Amino acid sequence: MTQAKAFESLSEWRDALAALGAKPLHARMLSRALMGRAALLDPEDARFPKRLRMSWESLLARWNAVLRLHSRHPGSDGESERLLGLLADGEAIESVLLPRRGVCVSTQCGCAVGCRFCMTGRGGLRRQLSDVEIAAQAALARKLRPETKKVVFMGMGEPSHNWRAVESALVFLAEYGEFSRRDLVVSTVGDPRLFARLSVMDLKPALALSLHTIDDAKRRFLLPNGCRMSADEVLEAALSYAEASAYPLQIEWTLLAGVNDGADEARALAEKLRGRYAMVNYIPVNAIPEAGYARPDRERALELVKTLRSAGVVATLRDSAAQEVEGGCGQLRARVFRAAPPHPPVSGR
Ligand code: SF4
Repeated sequence: MTQAKAFESLSEWRDALAALGAKPLHARMLSRALMGRAALLDPEDARFPKRLRMSWESLLARWNAVLRLHSRHPGSDGESERLLGLLADGEAIESVLLPRRGVCVSTQCGCAVGCRFCMTGRGGLRRQLSDVEIAAQAALARKLRPETKKVVFMGMGEPSHNWRAVESALVFLAEYGEFSRRDLVVSTVGDPRLFARLSVMDLKPALALSLHTIDDAKRRFLLPNGCRMSADEVLEAALSYAEASAYPLQIEWTLLAGVNDGADEARALAEKLRGRYAMVNYIPVNAIPEAGYARPDRERALELVKTLRSAGVVATLRDSAAQEVEGGCGQLRARVFRAAPPHPPVSGR
């Protein structure tokens, strides 16, 4: 059987509907159906144009060809689950079903930022994801877990490096997936073009900043292609956005033993955040042998949390979801495809 030609963009999906006589109301109903918020089209339903009904199966096949589920990797917490998906051209991406009804999606295949502690960064950027490939990850999550209510753009890739597609996917998810803007969380290393765009967007997503350190030299080393702004500039821009959009900034800080887990840095961070609209998530690194970084011990990490809390800053110590199944972003993809070439997709989609 020949494989249906996958949609290359959300506008191609909309155009295909319009070409078959769909009115805006029909397009809305069917887009909501893809996002698990309405029933799929019944070919007998006379509210839809006949041409559209007759072509519905092939439209759905084209949508399903965008992203195929390759394999599922449940975490031992019983809630997290890593998903490895195959795109139409054979590239693979990771998404993660999170506890508390969330899904973490990828925005690029690979990543150009090159964070030294990240497996995805080590492979560089392979290609951008289209808006439909990003939205399809949330649709898949809804299919596997209909209760999914939050989308975190924190998987493979740097959203600001593929902003046009990310913005289009955000708008689609808010409109047809009924995700509230507070439940659409964009994670970034920070980029002036992103802050400029966010300031004029109607949809104001929540923001997470991958800060990792407030020392500029250290940050430039850890994030070789992610520091168009100084740590102070990026922090101020992100805080200003959070305060203007009335939703707190999440600061992500990957903890690397002996690198960015010092008490001095925690105290300095606490001073910068005192009275500001932000919270800090410390995330011990998912150690990858190639990188040579280790996690600090738990007591040390808890000390950092305490330092921030004593300055009135909300801080938590987290584990990245499902890390025991080849943990940090890019590791699962790297492991599976190092061991064997892609298998045919699993059924169910
Ligand atoms: S941590 Fe994120 S920004 Fe850094 S290289 Fe990995 S995917 Fe890119």
